[in-house]
Amino acid sequence: MTPDEELRARATRVIPGGMWGHQRAQALPRGYPQFFKDARGARVRDVNGKEYIDMMCSWGPVILGHQHPAVDAAARAQNDKGLCLDGPTEHAVVLSELLVEKVVHADWAYFQKNGSDAMTTCVTLARAGTGKRKVLVARGAYHGAVPWCSPSVAGVTAEDRAHIILFEFNDAGSLKDAIAQAGDDLAAIIVSAFRHDLGRPLEMPDQSFAEQARRACDATGAALIVDDVRAGFRLNMGGTWELFGVRPDLSAWSKAIANGHPLAAVTGNDRFREAAEQVFVTGSFWYAGGPMAAAVATLSELTRIDGPALMRRSGERLRKGLAEQAARHGFDLRQSGPPAMPLVQFVDDDAQSSLGEAFCGEALGRGVYLHHRHNMFLSTAHEDDIIDDLLTRTDEAFAALAKRR
Ligand code: PMP
Repeated sequence: MTPDEELRARATRVIPGGMWGHQRAQALPRGYPQFFKDARGARVRDVNGKEYIDMMCSWGPVILGHQHPAVDAAARAQNDKGLCLDGPTEHAVVLSELLVEKVVHADWAYFQKNGSDAMTTCVTLARAGTGKRKVLVARGAYHGAVPWCSPSVAGVTAEDRAHIILFEFNDAGSLKDAIAQAGDDLAAIIVSAFRHDLGRPLEMPDQSFAEQARRACDATGAALIVDDVRAGFRLNMGGTWELFGVRPDLSAWSKAIANGHPLAAVTGNDRFREAAEQVFVTGSFWYAGGPMAAAVATLSELTRIDGPALMRRSGERLRKGLAEQAARHGFDLRQSGPPAMPLVQFVDDDAQSSLGEAFCGEALGRGVYLHHRHNMFLSTAHEDDIIDDLLTRTDEAFAALAKRR
């Protein structure tokens, strides 16, 4: 039995289903390890000791590479003085100042732990600020694992979602209908930074759709909420929708904000400052200084090196390499999304993405950790030599896949 197999067997006895959420073994591509041991830079190692070039970056949080020295030193310096004190540390103020400086729409910020916390806080704030109830959410979008938005209906009541109205992302008619359905009770329109629903090609927001959402909020007083939990700081330091010239009222952040240290944030404009003062949001760990110190170091470093530009360039190198290889081996690839958060699919694949899964399996065996249905993540540690090393291995993976046909 390998160490991974042994841990799986033990987990099944004491953890329901062997693991919770998206890290259940059943949700992994076939043949993937479940347990990991360590990681550095752009490489991660599983519990069996096999090393991979990491294209998931912990599903987003790792943006400067694993174990970034300056980030981890900043966290350690605070942690050595105490993990959780009787109140916040100066890092809460310094980080808020930094976010207000960098995030264009932000007049204020405050902090949580997870993206689900930040998104739920945004919804509560929007309702408090508007005195209205209806919240528009794009069908199929992921915003967290709490009852108002969980992709599972187990344990969720109709009442939990009583005021949620669904619309289709990038569909003007559908958004218009949803706004009409909300009538004079519209509290918020929630949009993902871009459409990144599991298993379907990634889609950037249409300019006209983004502007329509902004206009509707201006006309009704509702809050435009951008869920920047997944894309935040990978595409643009000032907020992803700045790329489309549309400014939200509230944004949720987490994942990459502290390079893997646990932290989430909500930023807002002055229109929602009073609501943010009224709403009672808190958590035992929400004031811990270490992750905030890590976030200050992460955002400063990303700014200093222009992280988004570096990741875009590496992502373009990867995309070009994969396209060339696929064509040479006779495969038709569909590469979608921003280069720093790519999804790679096979045009001729079946509904289960069998070909994509087989390709990932071949790559995994050759030391490349990919995902066939979820967008992947580059970090600034994915420098040219890493991308070229990865491409050498994927070339072999394509060749092996071609032989199977
Ligand atoms: N929003 C988006 C867009 C996400 O991708 C995620 C996490 N995958 C969340 C919200 C929820 O974040 P968390 O898992 O930290 O609660």
